[in-house]
Amino acid sequence: MQGLTQNIIQALSELLSTARKVCIVVHTHPDGDAIGSGLAFMHYLREVQGKDACLVIPDEAPSTLSFLTSGEDIINAETETERASRAISESGLIAFLDLNEMHRCEAALPFVEKSDAPRLLIDHHAKPCTEGFDLAISRPDASSTCEILFFVLKALENGSMERIPAKALYNLMTGLTTDTNNFANSVGDSTLQVAGELIGAGVDRDDILGHLYHEDRPERLRANCDLAANHLTILPCGLAYIILTEEMSKAYGLLPGETDGLVNLPLSVKEVVVSIFLHEENGLFRVSIRSKRGWSARRIAEDHFHGGGHEMASGGKLRWPEDIASPDCAAAYIESIAARFLPNYKAVLQ
Ligand code: 5GP
Ligand code: MN
Repeated sequence: MQGLTQNIIQALSELLSTARKVCIVVHTHPDGDAIGSGLAFMHYLREVQGKDACLVIPDEAPSTLSFLTSGEDIINAETETERASRAISESGLIAFLDLNEMHRCEAALPFVEKSDAPRLLIDHHAKPCTEGFDLAISRPDASSTCEILFFVLKALENGSMERIPAKALYNLMTGLTTDTNNFANSVGDSTLQVAGELIGAGVDRDDILGHLYHEDRPERLRANCDLAANHLTILPCGLAYIILTEEMSKAYGLLPGETDGLVNLPLSVKEVVVSIFLHEENGLFRVSIRSKRGWSARRIAEDHFHGGGHEMASGGKLRWPEDIASPDCAAAYIESIAARFLPNYKAVLQ
């Protein structure tokens, strides 16, 4: 991987050598890349480097990733505050994976802020805020944190994959798959190189695909189809949006993570250039934004939803009463953004 110099790997080795206990922290609402890279690094540190390594997640992992998380001792900072606080305070190194700003570890942040342990960052989001990290390995051109971590682990192993645990490789392949939307987005030559090497090392990609795409509950399919059929608005300017309230989630019987990926669907329509998905949760809207080439989902997330991410895949939040008067005003808010961003639309197509 370009830019992953001998000096960086040397600095990483030194950081690791000073810590007996390492705590890995990932972004809130952890996805396949966050969980995959977190578990891969944890297994590598435990089984190859003999560290006392643990993984702290800011909130619940989606049920759709239970094939990765089941049987793993993962600490949830929201529901297991004591354990998270202890794990972080006892660690001699905190490794932040798949986040570009420290505050994205949300419920884990107060514990992190109390610790004076060195901080390592491995991430691929745009605009990393690398201040406050002792070593930052940030590659916004990489498809996923799992892609970067693959090269990091291999470099730590002097180019060999032999000692990297099979479980770590399986987790890396999962994150690579989910963050690229099954190799549809952000795929570079090194992404395919990593995938090839992982398959060559024995990772069962079909098994991962089975878990990711062929084990849904019917409620998920029904909800996603109904949302697309009855709750999708396509504006003539090319912006599409879906708003899912907590009440609707309940009525559909949806579990956390079961609308992941839905935001991509409207982009299948030729005229749609930006897709926004709002999902009400715990008194605010979580926002997912995707765009086609030439349109910046990231800028919309930064300018209007307190967020960020990647150029064509970003996220953020929309709150009331700070941003909008009430949840009912969300559609009007999006449409006003569309009007300012992409003028000249006249009517709403349903
Ligand atoms: P998703 O729509 O899948 O939740 O998020 C898309 C991408 O944007 C992910 O890489 C995610 O980490 C990033 N993202 C989501 N929310 C935020 C946010 O509030 N701030 C930043 N900087 N990135 C975000
Ligand atoms: Mn990621």
